[in-house]
Amino acid sequence: MKRYPHGFSGGQRQRIGIARALAAEPQFIVADEPIWAFDVSIQAQSMNLFDDLQERLGLTCLFISHDLRAVRHVSDRIAVMYLGRIVELADATGIISRQVHPYTRALISAVPVADPKLEKQRKRVLLQGDGPSPINPPKGCQFHTRCPYAIAACSRAVPALTEIQPRQLASRIRVSREDPDVEAVAAMPGDVRFALDDQGR
Ligand code: SF4
Repeated sequence: MKRYPHGFSGGQRQRIGIARALAAEPQFIVADEPIWAFDVSIQAQSMNLFDDLQERLGLTCLFISHDLRAVRHVSDRIAVMYLGRIVELADATGIISRQVHPYTRALISAVPVADPKLEKQRKRVLLQGDGPSPINPPKGCQFHTRCPYAIAACSRAVPALTEIQPRQLASRIRVSREDPDVEAVAAMPGDVRFALDDQGR
């Protein structure tokens, strides 16, 4: 009670922040990058605290983070966003084992694995180019400037979140070079339709 904020450790300050949020007895908490400022041991404590609170208080928590290891640890469902839009939404276990959207694949492939043997075998999916400015995002599918599967239609149509398999949705026109089925999976604005040429462009 008598200490100033600087008198607490990072982990203590974070627990105080969570306690303040819980004092209002919420059913739903939005935690925006709650662990980014901490070292690994405090991050681990914080994630365990989130787990514990979710279980004991029956809380629902929207956990926003760039740290995929943390997201995987605390989440039941994961939504992956690119430039402010959800590009894939699935159960945590499902999205870790099978990603549909090329951006999700690149993200998951970048997560280090704790097992040295598996880590050696890990194959990174490297994206070309820099991320576009969120102030002036590309038209159509915002990922088309970096997507290895992009076709001309991707710069014109905004793909809708489509159920690819039960409980797994992705915003996509194609997910591989063999999947040029634009009409079947993309939401077309108005009545606009796209025809593919021989190369599937
Ligand atoms: S819609 Fe096109 S650019 Fe966007 S992820 Fe799918 S293939 Fe790539």
